[in-house]
Amino acid sequence: MKRGLVLGLLVAVGASSLTARAFYSPQAPQQQGPKVVEVDKVKDNLFVLKGGGGNTAVFVTTTGVVVVDAKNPGWGQPILDKVKELTNKPITTLINTHTHGDHVSGNVEFPATVEVVTQENTKANMEKMDIFKQNDNRGMPKKTFKDKMTIGKGADQIDLYYFGPGHTNGDAWVVFPALRTAHVGDLFASKGLPLVDGANGGSVLHYPETVNKGYSGIKNVDTVINGHSNTTTTWADVKQFADFNQDFLTFAQNALKAGKTPEQAASEWKVPEKYTGYSSQVAQLFGGLPGRIQRLQEEMGQKK
Ligand SMILES: [Zn+2]
Repeated sequence: MKRGLVLGLLVAVGASSLTARAFYSPQAPQQQGPKVVEVDKVKDNLFVLKGGGGNTAVFVTTTGVVVVDAKNPGWGQPILDKVKELTNKPITTLINTHTHGDHVSGNVEFPATVEVVTQENTKANMEKMDIFKQNDNRGMPKKTFKDKMTIGKGADQIDLYYFGPGHTNGDAWVVFPALRTAHVGDLFASKGLPLVDGANGGSVLHYPETVNKGYSGIKNVDTVINGHSNTTTTWADVKQFADFNQDFLTFAQNALKAGKTPEQAASEWKVPEKYTGYSSQVAQLFGGLPGRIQRLQEEMGQKK
């Protein structure tokens, strides 16, 4: 997507909501001015770095540092600088939750010694991105997984899971079992209707099922780091988010079956009242709300 178009979309969204300004544009225009990274301490050895794109997790293990997600272009070095303030251990591993530019672009600024790990579909998606072509594939994944992979053990263990398509077709759940915490990326970016990137295999139809599979398939997590939320959420919030997506899916399927166009359906959708704290803002990327319903229509057609 061209920068001007993205800017226009962001302005359109931003006019009604400041929080929507940061609405996880996969190819956000570069911010001007100093790149300020804010640190939230989640546990003694787990931090969230905020600013410049998606939320970055920093997990300090006995032998080194594991980073999850690397933000927009130009934000890799600010992450490296901030990690140095938190620990003198070296960064050994960088995990990307999914392919979007506000989560992977900083990869190219990490030392080449850092091992990059993603779900296998995310690696395939990243291979199409200009930023990696322009940087001789620096920061591309060397290690991938399909459904599950464990890195490290004991207090340092990380479990990576993939439960099916949602935001993209490569959304990793990154679990720190000793800390009962998971980084779920943009599959659950924040409390609101998620973006679905059809071009990268995202699915409106399977979204609730995918979130539910993660919710029931992963045990012993209390704290959730979201792709773009300002604060952490809870495991119970994951269940509520799955329900929210199921309610949206049911609404959209019924509207389409009643012969409504995606535009008509979109104009009738409201956040159900029981979802308190959910944003009524819908990010305009990927065609906004009509675009999501259109995507569902295509997916329903495919199924027949
Ligand atoms: Zn994303």
